[in-house]
Amino acid sequence: MLPPLSAGSPLPAAELDLLQIELTIAKQGGGFELGIIDKGKLTPFTCPDCHGALTQLIEGQLIRYRCHTGHAYTVSALLSEVTESVESMLYQSMRGLEEASMLLQNLGQHFADAEQPDVAALFLRKAAESGQQARLVHRSILQQEALSGDLQFQKKKLPHPAD
Ligand SMILES: [Zn+2]
Repeated sequence: MLPPLSAGSPLPAAELDLLQIELTIAKQGGGFELGIIDKGKLTPFTCPDCHGALTQLIEGQLIRYRCHTGHAYTVSALLSEVTESVESMLYQSMRGLEEASMLLQNLGQHFADAEQPDVAALFLRKAAESGQQARLVHRSILQQEALSGDLQFQKKKLPHPAD
């Protein structure tokens, strides 16, 4: 949780310098050439837009993340992008597992019709397992959506200066 913003305090020289670089990047891009990487701390996180490494910049009470191509995120914007991307990947996994289950079901039916009950049973068992996995992923999606919901709620409560 961020401490409350103190109003009206003048910016130290280092922060003014950083602000100047930020404004230049906002106008013409190219954070790498302007040395934005040297101004902050390199993080293990990647930019949701271009997957470049993100640098953490602390400007007074505000924490921001910026990649070397110039995309910028507040903490809450980055969190919301990351949770949305997790959600979308989970949906893709669920769809894949459901498709696998339907295909296995289909093959099981084919071998049942061809009077090969042992092979049919094997495919039908695998189909059921795949369906079970899909339901597990669906449960994760619901939990993930609840988490994203909590973060959205928190986003509204945090002081959110205009970018
Ligand atoms: Zn980027």
